[in-house]
Amino acid sequence: MSEPSDAEELAALTTTLKRHLQRRQRAGVGYLAKAAPAPAKTVSPIDQPNKPNVLAGTELDMLGDTQQVFVAESLEDLRAVIGDCQRCKLCSGRTNIVFGIGNPRAKLMFVGEGPGRDEDLQGEPFVGRAGQLLTDIITKGMGLKREDVYICNVVKCRPPENRNPEPDEVAACEPFLKKQIDIVRPEIIVGLGKFAVQTLLNSKVPISKLRGVWASYHGIKLMPTFHPAYLLRNPADKKLVWEDIKQVIKVMRGENA
Ligand code: SF4
Repeated sequence: MSEPSDAEELAALTTTLKRHLQRRQRAGVGYLAKAAPAPAKTVSPIDQPNKPNVLAGTELDMLGDTQQVFVAESLEDLRAVIGDCQRCKLCSGRTNIVFGIGNPRAKLMFVGEGPGRDEDLQGEPFVGRAGQLLTDIITKGMGLKREDVYICNVVKCRPPENRNPEPDEVAACEPFLKKQIDIVRPEIIVGLGKFAVQTLLNSKVPISKLRGVWASYHGIKLMPTFHPAYLLRNPADKKLVWEDIKQVIKVMRGENA
């Protein structure tokens, strides 16, 4: 029997992937958006009931660079796909990729900007002083354990001198965040700080205007609030974050926000 040609192998792979994606679609599992250009996202009140919780995307992704990300079915799969990632220039300065941590079925997800020095060294998000403040918000403020929620960042490698990630770095890393959200499927996302919130909402509106107002990330309730690092510099604004967190607690309890 002759060996299959490259074209036949490609056709077989395409068929397998199509079937896999069709099964996921029938199961209601969302598709991953293309890395660039980012789909338009709008700020809206709490998402409408019955709105499908599906991330935007196209079937063309399955043959693109994000194919492996696209078909990852667990956080472990996704972390394996990221591997020793060199997809953007942030790889050159990192000690560890800071993937994310917490309950893979969490109802509540926190998304920050990117790892700082402590996070880079330990490979875990929000472990420095700002991380301790976030942990206090989760444990003392919300009465949850850190392991009850899921915590990650927009970019997985530390930007030099803690500068903001650049657009090409976000474009390279954003598929991983989208897929993390797709896999965890939280009921609520808390966006921590200007950069994370503006990235999630594809918006340039200042965080001071966005915070405290429910928005929607592909049908998932999104509460924008200040970053804990900002609160370390501006402790007077902790009361504003507490107002935002109280809204999150209400929704988690099934009360109207
Ligand atoms: S920031 Fe993201 S895309 Fe860039 S090297 Fe790290 S893991 Fe890869």
